[in-house]
Amino acid sequence: MNTIEEIYLDEEEYRDSIATVDSKGKRLWVYPKKPKGSFHTKRIWFSIFLLTLFFVGPFLQLNNRPFLMFNIFERKFILFGNLFLPQDFHLVALALITMFVFVILFTVIFGRLWCGWACPQTLFMEMVFRKIEYWIEGDASQQRKLNARPWDTDKILRKTAKQIIFIIFSIVIAHTAMAYLISVEKTIEIISKPPTENWAGFLGLSFFTFLFYGVFAYLREQACIAVCPYGRLQGVLLSKDSIVISYDNLRGEPRGKIKKGVETTNKQGDCIDCKLCVQVCPTGIDIRNGTQLECVNCTACIDACDEVMEKVEKPKGLIRYASYNNIQKGEKFRLTPRIIGYSLVLLALISLDIFLMLKRTEVETVILRVPGTLYRELPNGNLTNVYNFQIANKTFEQIPITLKLKDTKGKINIAGGNVILLEKDQTTHGSFIIELPRESVKGVKTKLLIEVWAGDKYLETVPTNFLGN
Ligand code: SF4
Ligand code: SF4
Repeated sequence: MNTIEEIYLDEEEYRDSIATVDSKGKRLWVYPKKPKGSFHTKRIWFSIFLLTLFFVGPFLQLNNRPFLMFNIFERKFILFGNLFLPQDFHLVALALITMFVFVILFTVIFGRLWCGWACPQTLFMEMVFRKIEYWIEGDASQQRKLNARPWDTDKILRKTAKQIIFIIFSIVIAHTAMAYLISVEKTIEIISKPPTENWAGFLGLSFFTFLFYGVFAYLREQACIAVCPYGRLQGVLLSKDSIVISYDNLRGEPRGKIKKGVETTNKQGDCIDCKLCVQVCPTGIDIRNGTQLECVNCTACIDACDEVMEKVEKPKGLIRYASYNNIQKGEKFRLTPRIIGYSLVLLALISLDIFLMLKRTEVETVILRVPGTLYRELPNGNLTNVYNFQIANKTFEQIPITLKLKDTKGKINIAGGNVILLEKDQTTHGSFIIELPRESVKGVKTKLLIEVWAGDKYLETVPTNFLGN
């Protein structure tokens, strides 16, 4: 019986090339056979759930505001109804780091589960565009024949219909993606006006449409194999304990065809070399060669092989979710030092995230003395310093702000009145003068505390310095 290492040694050359490129470097188009089976049915239901979330997401509102928005252009993010401005950049950066660590931990344990079940690329490719293709052009063999055939009326009609539907879906996806970026209202505004009134919006939507159409109509599995950074990282993220889609070589090898009425020898493994697992693979690989970077964990090969095993009356699961060590040594899942290490880091990051979120204020004030200025002495003997302020309003309401000196005699004179009106979801800039009587000035640099109030609601205290002598 061959061990997987022996199989690798024997057939290592499959790693020298990728299944979708020929020896001359030309792309080989993949025609995966239509998948069916219990895993595929579960994936369909899960995809319907995720796609519904995706398309409904931009329309979800909380108190008449978007529930989610990722406006990278204006650097405004709304998560679960909470507004995040550039002042919250540290939170966004920390959340991203937390997410990376989570993805690493998740991959170390479950391999590319995300790719097969939840990645938008796989969702749209396999559950939307590929389904449309099967519907219009038929299964893999019919698609091959159609492509090889001269351009007759039927072929022109099918190809045109497919491309038109692909473009329509790309437009819908592009507009939904744009709604996540700039809100539904602004997206509707762009499409309801001529392009000349909003070139940036029109070009943005056209770009997204072109991008999605290009990816799902032509780039396809190459996005996972050659473009996606997460896919490229699998080599360092996966371990022998990661649960991936695996071929049980101990059970399956030596593979061999079976013939009706001919008894198989005891030496023959359960794999009947029907190659159905290869034919259904959307990345064109043979999972029997072992875990490969191209495998997006779509489960199509599990379903195909299970169906074959049922027919030949062998137990299902020749291809299944299992780790290398589970197949080779029969080891069950265990907590490895690597998993424990990543979990501790993740726990620490999540705790820090929660702590910073709880500390986060809805109004954030920065006060700095105007650079390069000194103090000024007034005829009454009082001293003045000039300050710049920047106040971020992370709410969706206007807020009238007043500034007060804490524990120091003196006054704050704000240009244009003593109330600063903060516009909703904006950062307001301005300047003011602090006037202190001589007795309040303690040397060259006097430490001051300025309280920020919204009406009679105390918000925060900001420290600064006052120059004098
Ligand atoms: S090897 Fe199996 S799970 Fe991996 S991409 Fe191919 S069909 Fe999907
Ligand atoms: S589908 Fe199963 S039996 Fe058929 S070639 Fe693949 S592993 Fe072997």
